[in-house]
Amino acid sequence: MRIDLHTHSRASDGTQSPGDVVRAAAAAGLDVVGLTDHDTTAGWHEAAQAALVEGVSLVRGIEVSTRHRGRGVHLLAYLPDPTYEPLRAQLGRILEGRATRIPEMLDRLAKNADIHLTVDDVRRASPDTSVIGRPHVADAIVAAGHAADRSEVFARLVGQGGPAYVDRYAAPLLDMVRIVGEAGGVAVVAHAWGRHGPAGLSERDLADLAERGLAGLEVDHQDHDAPARDRLRGLARDLDLVVTGSSDYHGLGKVDHDLGCNTTTPDDYARLLELAAASAERSGRATVPTVVGA
Ligand code: AMP
Ligand code: MN
Ligand code: MN
Ligand code: MN
Repeated sequence: MRIDLHTHSRASDGTQSPGDVVRAAAAAGLDVVGLTDHDTTAGWHEAAQAALVEGVSLVRGIEVSTRHRGRGVHLLAYLPDPTYEPLRAQLGRILEGRATRIPEMLDRLAKNADIHLTVDDVRRASPDTSVIGRPHVADAIVAAGHAADRSEVFARLVGQGGPAYVDRYAAPLLDMVRIVGEAGGVAVVAHAWGRHGPAGLSERDLADLAERGLAGLEVDHQDHDAPARDRLRGLARDLDLVVTGSSDYHGLGKVDHDLGCNTTTPDDYARLLELAAASAERSGRATVPTVVGA
């Protein structure tokens, strides 16, 4: 059984529709695919319909933008009830923060890089989503002929500290771990040591999160080298956390993140579903079936 629990569609910054992501997952030989668009559940319905047709199991998730001690942390929320009001409220705040920073980024692009784009140009690069981010600004910059691809734009212009970088709202990490549990879901830290290494989330931070109900750690991810994977795997074992491995697929939006390039073991997947079922039961929320499809 091949399981990939972290992918993106055009509902956020992937380049394929949610249905196409599921069809691509089936074509890639995956049995289980998690759709985890940034800060939205907008792709779930379409993905579920495609999963039924393809006979693939779909795990509905959200990669939530959070912050801890001033640093960004991506938290994968699997199978939460999306109607839980505190969850909706946080996602709403995040989307608002995403929208309001775009004009500010465009001002900086004009002032600091002499690149002149309008909000409409960015909208044209992101017609299917309200989860507007730097990848869509990058697409607009590429479309206008100022760079070759998203990676170049991140490296030169919109990466953290770059000339057009603007920060945005993210949910407090500890609050979000609690909210995901209250919504009957389970939380897994995405690429925990991808960007800042242990300087972002220390071993102690991860132990603290485990005590607060974190379900798992994404260990096998392209942003982790072999030593980071080894240490995180050992830590997950010590803390009794589920280990996941995923592609973080973005279609053509991110190179070297092909579907199934990392996978989650059937045992870890089974444990994640057990924890989700227990969370749903504890929350008392009428949660939707955990997976659809085969
Ligand atoms: P934002 O949502 O605006 O904070 O932008 C962050 C998103 O940009 C992440 O979700 C990544 O998927 C994407 N990203 C970061 N670095 C790169 C890169 N070098 N190439 C393509 N996408 C990137
Ligand atoms: Mn992304
Ligand atoms: Mn991420
Ligand atoms: Mn991701």
